[in-house]
Amino acid sequence: MGMWASLDAMWEMPAEKRIFGAVLLFSWTVYLWETFLAQRQRRIYKTTTHVPLELGQIMDSETFEKSRLYQLDKSTFSFWSGLYSEIEGTLILLFGGIPYLWRLSGRFCGYAGFGPEYEVLVTIYADYIAPLFDKFTPLPEGKLKQEIEVMAKSIDFPLTKVYVVEGSKRSSHSNAYFYGFFKNKRIVLFDTLLEEYSVLNRDIQEESGMEPRSDGEGDSEEIKAKVKSKKQGCKNEEVLAVLGHELGHWKLGHTVKNIIISQMNSFLCFFLFAVLIGRKELFAAFGFYDSQPTLIGLLIIFQFIFSPYNEVLSFCLTVLSRRFEFQADAFAKKLGKAKDLYSALIKLNKDNLGFPVSDWLFSMWHYSHPPLLERLQALKSSKQD
Ligand SMILES: [Zn+2]
Repeated sequence: MGMWASLDAMWEMPAEKRIFGAVLLFSWTVYLWETFLAQRQRRIYKTTTHVPLELGQIMDSETFEKSRLYQLDKSTFSFWSGLYSEIEGTLILLFGGIPYLWRLSGRFCGYAGFGPEYEVLVTIYADYIAPLFDKFTPLPEGKLKQEIEVMAKSIDFPLTKVYVVEGSKRSSHSNAYFYGFFKNKRIVLFDTLLEEYSVLNRDIQEESGMEPRSDGEGDSEEIKAKVKSKKQGCKNEEVLAVLGHELGHWKLGHTVKNIIISQMNSFLCFFLFAVLIGRKELFAAFGFYDSQPTLIGLLIIFQFIFSPYNEVLSFCLTVLSRRFEFQADAFAKKLGKAKDLYSALIKLNKDNLGFPVSDWLFSMWHYSHPPLLERLQALKSSKQD
């Protein structure tokens, strides 16, 4: 009875109070949910004390233990900092902090050197302009190039050129990608993927008169030892397997689907924004009774009003992206590359493993790319057929 009565009372409140209450309630719901997930993940850190079997050859137990303790520390810290910022945010909302900060920022605006424009510029530079200066070299004629062309042809990929780009300087976890419109596509391989094909490695192979064998088992112990002492790249077959995954994204239409989704999302957001920006009760809910500054409208609508939508959307996109990754892996497997992709993934993730075990629910909510272990397990389970 009491609950219904108070719900009724809430419903009779003015619109701006209801909006405010809903925003606050949602913010705490998300906070509690995230905390719940973090606790689940924390339990994994506490109980997983041995390196998973699949990673035995690339991670020793000392590194594993160090990373485990570090993650435990980090999770304690983020628990307290998360609690602090949630309470801080709530207090700011409750005590009308946004109008206060807005007036304050008006006063200090003149002093600020870098605004948000600065950040946008940096992002644009890093994402779109810096790559223009990367060194693209055509992949030299040879076995690898031939094999790439054969594979592209076998799945009707309209390949025109294959490039190698110096990717080692930037921290990017992509190893290969393609670009170009319609019937004119290029494949770009990061040089880090091709380590064994760098000049140094080729010398070693020529010196001992050995071509890498297609089954990947043929390297003599001597070469293995030499190669091992350097940073490891991928063999021909592994490079092809990684490419098989990337081309899977193309063949299965993932790229197009992503573009369509993001276009639809922008359209929807602008449309809703246009509808909502004129609503005075939205401003009133956050303490702006007699003025409706557009910047504040942006903040309120995108940060608070859209937040349920954003949570749902970002979860759906995460799920979708993981599906796409598994599908692309399965595609590579259908091309007969499960084994090579398996070993390539292990090599490529060697240096950025962090703590490799995660709680399934935590992982499902947070990781748009499936963790290495999950991908390996999926590849292994599909290896049988
Ligand atoms: Zn992928």
